[in-house]
Amino acid sequence: MAKAKEAKRTRSSVKSFHNYIGGEWVKSSSGESFDNVNPADTTDVIGRFPKSVPEDVDRAVAAAAAAATRWRRTPAPKRAELLFNLAEIIRDNKDQYTREMTREMGKVLKEAGGDVQEAIDCTYYTAGEGRRLHGFTTPAEMPNKFAMCVRQPVGLCGLITPFNFPMAIPSWKLIPALVCGNTVVIKSGEDVPLSTINLVKAAEKAGIPAGVVNVINGHGADVGAALVEHEDVRLISFTGSTATGAKIAEQCARDNKIVSLEMGGKNAIIIMDDADLDNAVEGSLWGAFGTSGQRCTASSRLIVHKKVYKKFVQKLVEKVKALRVGNGLDEKTEVGPVINQRAMDKILSYIEIGQKEDKATLACGGNALTKGEYKNGYFIEPTVFSDVKPGMRVEQEEIFGPVTSVVPFSTLDEAIDIVNGVKYGLSSAIYTQDVNKAFYAMQELYTGICYVNSATIGAEVHLPFGGTKGTGNGHREAGTQVLDIFSEWKSLYIDYSGKLQKAQIDQVEVP
Ligand code: NAD
Repeated sequence: MAKAKEAKRTRSSVKSFHNYIGGEWVKSSSGESFDNVNPADTTDVIGRFPKSVPEDVDRAVAAAAAAATRWRRTPAPKRAELLFNLAEIIRDNKDQYTREMTREMGKVLKEAGGDVQEAIDCTYYTAGEGRRLHGFTTPAEMPNKFAMCVRQPVGLCGLITPFNFPMAIPSWKLIPALVCGNTVVIKSGEDVPLSTINLVKAAEKAGIPAGVVNVINGHGADVGAALVEHEDVRLISFTGSTATGAKIAEQCARDNKIVSLEMGGKNAIIIMDDADLDNAVEGSLWGAFGTSGQRCTASSRLIVHKKVYKKFVQKLVEKVKALRVGNGLDEKTEVGPVINQRAMDKILSYIEIGQKEDKATLACGGNALTKGEYKNGYFIEPTVFSDVKPGMRVEQEEIFGPVTSVVPFSTLDEAIDIVNGVKYGLSSAIYTQDVNKAFYAMQELYTGICYVNSATIGAEVHLPFGGTKGTGNGHREAGTQVLDIFSEWKSLYIDYSGKLQKAQIDQVEVP
């Protein structure tokens, strides 16, 4: 009873947040809101956020459209100056953003700090493009004629982001979109709206003009879909599940919109018999259970050579059992909660599938944690399945939680086939001391990212990020390659011959 009252009291003093449209912080036209709660303790309400409706999307798109011409005509180095201001503001507020992210998303403080740091790194790095945005010149086939190619903004961009990297992923989309001269409407993940609001408040403070960046809070089916369908939106950049991405791709194909998709993964580490086993165990632990396994690059499969298999499983299970699960705000916690009840149900259902349908061995974990310090949160024991065979559902499907599967193999080619034998292609890794095996694996693993002697996680912002097959649709975020999403090429021909010259028709004499 006392507890219920405490929860009620916390809720009544909850802070309200707003949408950001045309430089104003405004309520949703529905007047409705939703609560953002801490997944480690659902009685801790972080804030009340507008439950937006399609009319809010219309207003945000109109604001972004009104700001477009002025922003596009602002010289790129000037746009970049504002983005450098933004990087400094994020850096100065890193501690606050980190704590707020842990509270709303659950990941431990160190990892939330890494997420904010990624936004800082991305902003500094990509703002530098304001003084590059390189095009190229090339010879023309006629005399006294000049040919060159420049980047132009694509126009109005809709950015749709997931829950698991609450500031890093919005920044990966926002900063390149802005440096290229586009205006944007962001639909943030409904479980983590505060981190996007922190990013956008920082952008406002940095001097980004009204209307250039707009934020809509709310649910995917209500406002995400409305943003995708809006006729004035030219590009959708989406990160999230493969199921949602497929719906978005279909709609964008109908409307002939540009669409970039970053979706699910089923990443694997190969551990060879010559690997430094302790290093491989540490990497597997970090790759599988960091962010409670809720990374698109999580090491959810560990493909282990038969010669070291038994020893590896024994060492891994010992370490997994010792992991400290708890509230991410506690410095001692190593594995935080999962994001919400839906995620909890899905992960537990896969743990059941692993045991009953796949008949894999449950080597450790497997239970929801519901008592004592865990009773108000979404906690699951870190779980390892061993004796997993290629083709089992826990080996094929994205679980997105603290669950990993250990699969034995005999030859490197067999291991590579196992890694490649899923519908996704985001990240892969190999632990080996043999340079020939490492290079062969790098060549044969069909993923967008590949690591040698470290886990499948840990991408850096200046290298392209994305996956093959079911993970994406051929685009890459981060690096300079992201500019190919947010700008289009324009070829320019300048004829200074003073007469009509017909390409492919007039024959030029070689003197
Ligand atoms: P999700 O697909 O449930 O939601 C992502 C976003 O899409 C949210 O903002 C949601 O509101 C919105 N949305 C939902 N339905 C929509 C619709 N019909 N139209 C438009 N928008 C809609 O994903 P999630 O659970 O937030 O994130 C987890 C998934 O994201 C995992 O599958 C993970 O692998 C993937 N992910 C991929 C990458 C990558 O770079 N490849 C990075 C991070 C996460």
